[in-house]
Amino acid sequence: MVAEHIEIESAASAARFAMSVDVEDYFQVWAFSDVIARASWDGFAPRVGDATRACLDLFDKRGASATFFVLGWVAERDPALVREIVSRGHELASHGYEHAKPTTQTPQEFREDVRRSKDILEDIAGVPVNGYRAAGFSIDGTTPWAHEILAEAGHRYSSSSHPISHDHYGDASVPQAPHRPVPNGDFIEAPVATTELFGRRVSCAGGGWFRASPYALSERLIARAARTLDGPVIFYFHPWELDVDQPRIECASRKSKLRHYLNLKSMPAKLDRLLARWPWGRVDAALGIGGAS
Ligand SMILES: [Zn+2]
Repeated sequence: MVAEHIEIESAASAARFAMSVDVEDYFQVWAFSDVIARASWDGFAPRVGDATRACLDLFDKRGASATFFVLGWVAERDPALVREIVSRGHELASHGYEHAKPTTQTPQEFREDVRRSKDILEDIAGVPVNGYRAAGFSIDGTTPWAHEILAEAGHRYSSSSHPISHDHYGDASVPQAPHRPVPNGDFIEAPVATTELFGRRVSCAGGGWFRASPYALSERLIARAARTLDGPVIFYFHPWELDVDQPRIECASRKSKLRHYLNLKSMPAKLDRLLARWPWGRVDAALGIGGAS
């Protein structure tokens, strides 16, 4: 991977804190994919619409804006939600069509999934979809073709890497700061936030880490990332993390259940503190692209 350092346009005024939401339902998460087949998704009662609207209300309360990476599969079934995300001032971006990791796809399968999702989202919302996030932050050193395919499809940036070591995802060898991975192109890969703790690379990007850690520790690590990262702090979470009453997937493994259900109750209050602490904005604005302000 070519790790060309980039200067973000007007870095002094660019947002330092970018909030993002991966819009998928509780039964579509990667950790449950070994016990819930994609073909069975339509058999589950959707909860992602209400859970995403709870996120939108939290953002309104704190004057925050965000980027919503929406699955094409969800958008097809709830186009009103897609339009509401845009009408409430947020960036609409793609999380792919069916939550497949590029590491499990051929380049052609990846290309079709990327284009399908982008077309669906743009048709519904009538706005360009510049951003993309791969399921499970799975663009890494094993998928050298992925960024080029995203750029060909018309995406301007991806936030699909998590530069840490983890059993499900992450590749500690990829850069921590935004970079241009496609030769001779403007396409940007903007990794989610990481920092150092006792000499070790750790995530402070949100999701399960944020739920597992005491709030004060997360805040300290995010503040450190804001001082040390050569680019915006990109945070993420999922609507189902605010949905305490979601049905339990009892047949999942102990480890997956522990991770998925850990501290769900405390999530709304922790997220609210985080939103009040810093001025959170959209990823496109933080990267100075898409005409976003
Ligand atoms: Zn996802």
